[in-house]
Amino acid sequence: MKKSDKQSTEDALRQSEERYKAFISQSSEGIWRFELEKPLSIKWPLEKQINHIFTYGYLAECNDAMAKMYGFSKAKEIIGTRLDQLLIPTDEANVTYLKNFINANYKLNRTESHELDRFGNNHIFENNLVGIVEDGFIHRAWGTQRDITQQRNAEKKQAFIEEVSSKLVVSLNHHVTLQEIAQLIVPHLADYCRIAIVDNENNIKEINVNHKDPTKVTLAKALYDSYKDSPNSTHGIPNILKKGKPEIIKVIDDKLLNKYGASNPMVKIIKQIGLKSYMGVPLIARGRTIGAITFSSVQDNRFYTKEDLHFAEELARRIALALDNIRLFQDAQEEIAEREKIAEILSLQQERLNLAQEAANIGVFETNIQTSQVVWSAQLEKLYGLKPGEFKGTANHWLSLIHQEDRAVVSNGFYEQIQKDAFTESEFRIVLPDGTIRWIYSKAQVFFDKNRKPVRAVGINIDVSDRKQAVLNSYFLAEASKILSSSLNYETTLQNVAKLAVPQIADWCLIGIINKDNIYEHIAVSHKDTKMVKWATAVGKEYPPDMNSSTGLAKVLRTGKAELYPLITDDMMKMTARDKKHFKLLKQLGMTSVMMVPLHAQQKPIGVITFITSETKRRFTKEDLSFAEELAHRASIAIENAALYKNAQDAITLRDDFISVASHELKTPVTSVKIFTQVMQKYAQINGDEKAIQNLDKMDKQINKLTDLIYNLLDISKIQTGRLEYTMRDFSFDTMLAEATETMQHMTSKHQLIVKGKANTMVYGDGDRISQVVSNLISNAVKYSPAADKVVIKVAADNEKVHVAVKDSGIGMSKEHLTKVFGRFYRVSGATDKTFPGLGIGLYISHEIINRHDGKLWVESKEGKGSTFHFTLPIHQ
Ligand code: ADP
Repeated sequence: MKKSDKQSTEDALRQSEERYKAFISQSSEGIWRFELEKPLSIKWPLEKQINHIFTYGYLAECNDAMAKMYGFSKAKEIIGTRLDQLLIPTDEANVTYLKNFINANYKLNRTESHELDRFGNNHIFENNLVGIVEDGFIHRAWGTQRDITQQRNAEKKQAFIEEVSSKLVVSLNHHVTLQEIAQLIVPHLADYCRIAIVDNENNIKEINVNHKDPTKVTLAKALYDSYKDSPNSTHGIPNILKKGKPEIIKVIDDKLLNKYGASNPMVKIIKQIGLKSYMGVPLIARGRTIGAITFSSVQDNRFYTKEDLHFAEELARRIALALDNIRLFQDAQEEIAEREKIAEILSLQQERLNLAQEAANIGVFETNIQTSQVVWSAQLEKLYGLKPGEFKGTANHWLSLIHQEDRAVVSNGFYEQIQKDAFTESEFRIVLPDGTIRWIYSKAQVFFDKNRKPVRAVGINIDVSDRKQAVLNSYFLAEASKILSSSLNYETTLQNVAKLAVPQIADWCLIGIINKDNIYEHIAVSHKDTKMVKWATAVGKEYPPDMNSSTGLAKVLRTGKAELYPLITDDMMKMTARDKKHFKLLKQLGMTSVMMVPLHAQQKPIGVITFITSETKRRFTKEDLSFAEELAHRASIAIENAALYKNAQDAITLRDDFISVASHELKTPVTSVKIFTQVMQKYAQINGDEKAIQNLDKMDKQINKLTDLIYNLLDISKIQTGRLEYTMRDFSFDTMLAEATETMQHMTSKHQLIVKGKANTMVYGDGDRISQVVSNLISNAVKYSPAADKVVIKVAADNEKVHVAVKDSGIGMSKEHLTKVFGRFYRVSGATDKTFPGLGIGLYISHEIINRHDGKLWVESKEGKGSTFHFTLPIHQ
């Protein structure tokens, strides 16, 4: 070899050596060589080989990178270290690592080992190594290693988070989830942990504690209780919830705890638990702190770092998200449940509505106004007497079912109303297929399109026949009562009542009374068709009611009780019919329903009102019957009143006749007596018989009183019959008054009659009659003031009338009598009064006289305070 060749070879070698060294020193991988103090036989059993490696292996050579991996800076600081100092023999992973090395024929790639650095920190290395076998023995091994601790931890954390996430995803019941999360955290991340959740009001709702040693859970809870309510606590769940920030105490040692004082209960518990390190993170979902998690370590070599806290935060984020999702899910669930409940209630309500509709006889319809298509509910078909599906779904079909008298009004009204109003309302009659007439109340809501064009109407129909009938009944009753009280001729009133009853109440109304000869006779037959009335009257004559029958009219008259036959059947008619012809006639009448109510007089049945429905097919109800009874009751009263009135009228006529005859009969003898007295007075005067003169004078006064009385009675009869005559002419009012007063003064010695004022006018009228009035008022004033000694008569006049007031200070009268005293035979103290004799006719006649003169007569009085009777008379007629 040439020198230059050798040189160049040496150079190359040197360069290669330098490159190798540079590679080793600069490599980021650890490069090493282990030597065994005693060679290892590859024939030994596995166990022995592993022990041998741990026992005799030491680091013979390595680069700085390798040294750094164990916390040293230079290779020379670590060279010589025994293998079991680095590779923890108790770690199962390391045993496996060596096992694999041996089994793989002392060659391994990318295998993990678990090792400790000089500070006692765990490291995971990935190794490539090769052992050189010489003659069945191994002396040394070469290898490279990479620190993959961080990568592995990251992977582990990732895996953990994934596990947690997967748990969170599957569980939508957070009770289970909190439990499970706590179980994942302990022991992976903590020796015990606490998870708290707050409710919407930010109160801690639940808390979950997990400890790797279950017996410590009680302690952990006690610890929590020791600080949770303290306002000064600087750490822990309440603090995290309050601040919404993570917190960490990397190292908890005596130095730290002593700050709180050794006797502090919290410190005591912390020591008891053996707490070494702590961190806590909030659970934040959508900006709101919904809870917190705390992690606590009791291990000597687990001290939480910033990275741990970041990791915990990441975990918390996921948990919070999941919990929020759960909450949303639960809300949704609740909402669904709620909705289902509502749906259930709705369907229940629908059911109820259906039932209610059925019960209330309500049918529902929907009309398409443009097409006149109509949809009916089943109930509505029923209401109209149709079978299910029978309604043809058109407005025309509906209209055809309406009573023909109401059809046009309803149809026009409906189309008119829907043009302007959102609601339409109407009441009309319908005719059911069997001819029954029912009353329907209809109300609909109209829906318009955006051009205010009506497109749809949705509404209801209610059968209001009963209500309508009740209204008709009460209306009828009111009208009938008016008729009944309008006249005292009961026959005509009953005929009017019967007319009124048709057709609202019944199609027929018959009223009959037992007459004087004790025979039942119809006094009223009413039907809307007069031909039918004639026909029925004829039938009634041919077949008068059988008074011996056990039913119907005869029964009502016998028992005095009402009868109701809601539905008349053919059989019933056969029972009543006298013969075939009668039956035919009855059938022709087409009776549906009958009710009969008795009329009473003096508590005895004296007649019957019969109501019959035929063409309307209406059936009478109990309500109808009680209404009819009420009517009959009122009619009975009317009949009785009429009878009473007639009796009273008869009695009055009799009395008046008697008075008239009696006073007539008395007039002549009294006149004779008066004349005889006057003759006797003359004789007595001639004879100078003083005694006789006195007696005859008294007698004459009594005869005058009697004459007055008779004339008054005669006047009364004349007033009654309108035969009281007046001789009208001008007379001097003052003269008339003076004369009348003078005459009256003769009659009384006790009272002084004082006239005040003058009329100073002639008055047109019957002076004698006016004088009669004045006399009457004065005589009453004297009579009803026995304790007084004067009566004042005031006179005044203006251009139109004369006013006279006769004032006494006697017994007076109370208010209620003020107008009544002018009535015929009216006396304040009654007819039997003995203190003040009288008949109660004077004021009646006076009133009549003043009235006939177009004047006014009235009284002002108070009981015990005297009375003033006034009258005015017009001066000119
Ligand atoms: P009579 O004959 O009863 O007096 P009248 O028709 O004159 O009949 O009077 C009717 C009733 O009016 C009398 O019964 C009496 O009760 C009452 N009355 C009439 N004038 C007076 C009066 N001046 N003071 C009190 N009551 C009087």
